[in-house]
Amino acid sequence: MQTHILGYPRIGSNRELKKACESYWSGTTTLQQLLKTGEEIKLHNWKLQQELGVDLIPCNDFSYYDQVLDMALTVGAIPDRYHEVILDKQNTETDLYFAMARGYQKKGLDITAMEMTKWFDTNYHYLVPEFYKNQQFNLFSSKIINEYREAKRAGINTKPVILGPVSFLLLGKEKESGFHRIDLLDNLLPVYVKLLTQLEETGIEYVQFDEPCLATDLSEKEQQSFQVAYSKIKKQFPHIKVILANYFDCYGNNLETALSLPVHTLHLDVVRCPSQLKDIFSSGKLSSNTHLSLGIIDGRNIWINDFQQSLLLITDAIEQLGENRISIATSCSLLHVPCDLDAETNEKSLTPEIKQWLAFAKQKVEELVTLKKIIEGEDDTTILRENNAIAIQNRKASPLIHNYEVKQRVAAIANKPINRNKPFEVRKTIQKEKLGLPLFPITTIGSFPQTQEVRSWRANYKKGNLTEEQYVQLLKEEIKESIKWQESTNIDVLVHGEFERNDMVEYFGEQLSGFAFTKNGWVQSYGSRCVKPPIIYGDVHRPKPMTVGWTTYAQSLTKKLMKGMLTGPVTILQWSFVRNDQPRSETTSQIALAIQDEVLDLEKAGIKVIQIDEPAIREGLPLKMADWKTYLNWAIRCFRISYFGVKDETQIHTHMCYSEFNDIIENIAAMDADVITIETSRSQMELLDAFVDFNYPNDIGPGVYDIHSPRVPSKEEMVDLLEKAIALIPAEQIWVNPDCGLKTRHWEETKLALTALVDAAQEMRKKVSKKVLI
Ligand code: GLN
Ligand code: ZN
Repeated sequence: MQTHILGYPRIGSNRELKKACESYWSGTTTLQQLLKTGEEIKLHNWKLQQELGVDLIPCNDFSYYDQVLDMALTVGAIPDRYHEVILDKQNTETDLYFAMARGYQKKGLDITAMEMTKWFDTNYHYLVPEFYKNQQFNLFSSKIINEYREAKRAGINTKPVILGPVSFLLLGKEKESGFHRIDLLDNLLPVYVKLLTQLEETGIEYVQFDEPCLATDLSEKEQQSFQVAYSKIKKQFPHIKVILANYFDCYGNNLETALSLPVHTLHLDVVRCPSQLKDIFSSGKLSSNTHLSLGIIDGRNIWINDFQQSLLLITDAIEQLGENRISIATSCSLLHVPCDLDAETNEKSLTPEIKQWLAFAKQKVEELVTLKKIIEGEDDTTILRENNAIAIQNRKASPLIHNYEVKQRVAAIANKPINRNKPFEVRKTIQKEKLGLPLFPITTIGSFPQTQEVRSWRANYKKGNLTEEQYVQLLKEEIKESIKWQESTNIDVLVHGEFERNDMVEYFGEQLSGFAFTKNGWVQSYGSRCVKPPIIYGDVHRPKPMTVGWTTYAQSLTKKLMKGMLTGPVTILQWSFVRNDQPRSETTSQIALAIQDEVLDLEKAGIKVIQIDEPAIREGLPLKMADWKTYLNWAIRCFRISYFGVKDETQIHTHMCYSEFNDIIENIAAMDADVITIETSRSQMELLDAFVDFNYPNDIGPGVYDIHSPRVPSKEEMVDLLEKAIALIPAEQIWVNPDCGLKTRHWEETKLALTALVDAAQEMRKKVSKKVLI
């Protein structure tokens, strides 16, 4: 029985790659220095896996930016707009690569980057390949073969990890009409053949083709293209052992297709889909020489493996197929977990009790190898097995995790309807009277610029260079100024600015019980950007108010309405490592009740408008449509729990950015927020269509200021956008606001843009009241 992993984190244990890339981009270091860092990381990862005893070590799981972009460059899928970059002989392939990733503003050129989007249901983002009718491909970059050779020089015969041809096409986008990208398969396959020819000549034995699209809903044509691709590969390379890797969910309706493919090994994510193995055996369709790779070590989460459970599954598979046809693996690439738990030495933030339940990438590799040793009956494994059983047992029973009261509270609302007291029309009248807002009310999304200064206060406070009193005082001054400015600019519903928050999830996680934080638990989000997700390990509750102090302080400074700002339960869940010992819906309900406590406390303290941000609702959608309903039902219900119990006159806002609403609009409406603010400016209000078609009843703030760019929009532009909006939706329903929070912006442009935004709203008020008079 062999062990292999699908990929290892490439950012380096101390984010070396991030630092190396960023200093190369800023021009402080040379290309040689960047490449050297890359080589060191690769070598470190290979050697580490070799020392730990992994049988099949991957290569080409490394990337300077993104593995999909790597593939685009490998097959020469380079959009025309980059040709000038290629023509310039001073540019290297790396320059072209980063131009595609980040855009190119040099030597009089201004070329946009490729679009970026979420990698399946993860928080990793990939660059979207661009496709044209009859597009031709060619073997452009030799990254894969170079990396394979690099490992070989280090004495390791690796398994190249290559994004499969079908998923490569499906993950991209057609940039012109009149064809489907899957039609390009015939043009693309010869390049894969050429690549494999070279790899075979150099001596590969195994290759791993990642085809994660097999976990999604596929049309018949798409399913057939797998047949076409892998039959061709088999025919041309009968001796290469192809491992076909699907992950993040079951093969589902694609199982039959997958089983019919002439590949050496089929990889299953048995963490996400434990039933798959049984399905395969009972189908009787596994061909007698196909091997199975069991993705048993969770590549998406940070919990230790339950050896006892895994061993049951592995022995069962071995009984059916024999040891030679089974390999064990990580469920997916370890890209989605931090590098090394050993780096977490601060016992205050991560206590030894919690730490014994965790495994990061390196520990997961150790677990994999240990499982193999146990199966093979090596005698030094008893203690490892016992320790694992103890930690698992201890986690099941730990009082740190289990809070009876919290469980009771969730159970008590299990079958209760969760509604506002009165329907929206009634609330609208009540709120109109109580809040006294004008037509086209103006607000912002919450955060104001997190200047270098504000961030330095927080850093100094954390380091102990500022006392709590000093820190609070500084923040209070900043809040005071922002309020003065908002008042003078005539914004209607003010915000305090979120200066005290580092991150919209971490800030709440730090104050809720059941959350732990790492010091170095970085995971790549995109390119050089990394995130450090909190770990939800136990029942969640709110020991004391989290935002009431700041919000009431802010309210005390103004007669205008001050909006309370909270992060919603689904977003908190989605951007954290979550428990695997209870359903996600259960954890989210607990978070929702904690937020509810905060909402009700804010209300009690006199706050009349409360926003509960849920930007991550859409990205939580399961990969298969058939599972959407269940998810949406509990997700929306949890959002409603978070405001349950407020008075009719209390106005609940929510905010969602980077979302398409078309296919989930019914659920968005079911959230029943009095006001929803969304991102619409870049799409020229196109994203509003879903609300129009649905006849969305509640108030909407379609963003009119694109906060993702430093550009200041003019009043006229914003009036135009608002005109578009009221052509679609009654003016009485429309709010005026930016697309998202302003924390990444500078004050200078923020002030100019918001002043213009207020002018735009005022002009609209005049226009509309004139129309009414006529
Ligand atoms: N209230 C948050 C802010 O303004 C919302 C951020 C978000 O939607 N991602 O920063
Ligand atoms: Zn937003």
